Amino acid sequence: MISEKDLREQLATCTRIFAMQGMIGVFGHVSVYQPETKRVFITPGMGSDKGSLRAEDMLITDLDGKPLEGREGPPVEWPIHTALHGARADAVAVAHLHTPYATLFTIAKREFQPVTLQGAIFSEGVPLYPQAQLITTPARGSSLLKVIGDKRAVLLRGHGIVVAGQNLQEVLFASLVLEDDAKKTMQAATLGEVGTISPEECRAFGAEIALERRAQRAWNYFCSLEARWDRQPATGRSELFP
Ligand SMILES: [Zn+2]
Repeated sequence: MISEKDLREQLATCTRIFAMQGMIGVFGHVSVYQPETKRVFITPGMGSDKGSLRAEDMLITDLDGKPLEGREGPPVEWPIHTALHGARADAVAVAHLHTPYATLFTIAKREFQPVTLQGAIFSEGVPLYPQAQLITTPARGSSLLKVIGDKRAVLLRGHGIVVAGQNLQEVLFASLVLEDDAKKTMQAATLGEVGTISPEECRAFGAEIALERRAQRAWNYFCSLEARWDRQPATGRSELFP
């Protein structure tokens, strides 16, 4: 079992990296689940300074969103997190973000498809939750579960994204990849028709097999950038590739 101290530290670090990368700000939250105690560790909600979050700032709830610890209640969209943590053993960590590029795929009438080899972890596509509403009730959390199924991520119409993973390292990496592929799709579109990586090509590349190692290396890299980040907006950040 990962200790509470480590979960808190990793959650704070992951969120500060998202802030450094401009992927979380006024909106967005990240959570990690401790299955052994059925407790959800989640970042504070709207308006909190994600770039300066510390381990001790994290809130704890049960799977019904009931606050157990922390200075305030959980973010209003807590059902996103509890629905996934409760239903899927592979959704130990969950990020809900309003990232600049991937969010455009929740607005444009265009399906997300991977365009890079890294993006092959999204070979199954990224479905769209069609209702233009916040996920503020368990019923909406259940609807979200039906849309995401066993996939890694879901787009929320006119709103943002949700990414799930086995741990925070995987969620950080998958979120960076999704954002990067969304951005590259748009940039490549200015040059002409965009070629996508087919599901067969994705499987042949075997991105899933190397995911754990890649996610850990990206985590280490961004942790070292974050450690020397001066916390001024738009500084410190790095492209995922190169
Ligand atoms: Zn939101």
